[in-house]
Amino acid sequence: APRVGVLALQGGVAEHAAMLRELGAEAVLVKTAEQLSGLDAIVLPGGESSTMDRLLRLFGLRDPLREAVLGGLPTLGTCAGLILLSSGIEDPAPGQRTLEVLDVTVARNAFGSQTASEEDVLTWGDDGATVRAAFIRAPVVTRAGEGVTVLARHRGEVVAVASGSVVGISFHPELTGETAVHRHLLSLVAARQALPA
Ligand code: GLN
Repeated sequence: APRVGVLALQGGVAEHAAMLRELGAEAVLVKTAEQLSGLDAIVLPGGESSTMDRLLRLFGLRDPLREAVLGGLPTLGTCAGLILLSSGIEDPAPGQRTLEVLDVTVARNAFGSQTASEEDVLTWGDDGATVRAAFIRAPVVTRAGEGVTVLARHRGEVVAVASGSVVGISFHPELTGETAVHRHLLSLVAARQALPA
């Protein structure tokens, strides 16, 4: 089974781990740089991006995580996780930084209140697939760089992107029981393993 890390500093860790296990992957909770070794993919969950940023730096995890993603580790960032992956934030919290591994700019807290999520069925990619998405104080992509593919929109705004083996989405598929995005991540693992070494 593929070993998929879930960054476990803060936020919706358990829901992602449960969904990965349901899809037949081994879910590894990642709190230290050592736990990054031997992973086939990683999920950066939703939560509060400025808190996760602080904890990443406090635990010495920011640079090793950044290098792993830049090295081609298939990566899914959801909501706060997308903010962490981005190259910049329009409205950062004071001192907030990002990993700068996905060439997009995001604005925080665009859709959905903390107490009532905003839900929608989105068209995903260009083969007619749909995903059930829940937005909770979700970011929006306001600029996507040249190598970035837009995968989905909500109210006309970009809420899902991919570049190489990095996927970033504004919403929470783990809260609607939507497995398509996690299956997409696992397909990136399979594609990478099919490459000659
Ligand atoms: N608003 C949060 C942030 O800025 C993200 C919310 C979420 O992950 N559901 O990090």
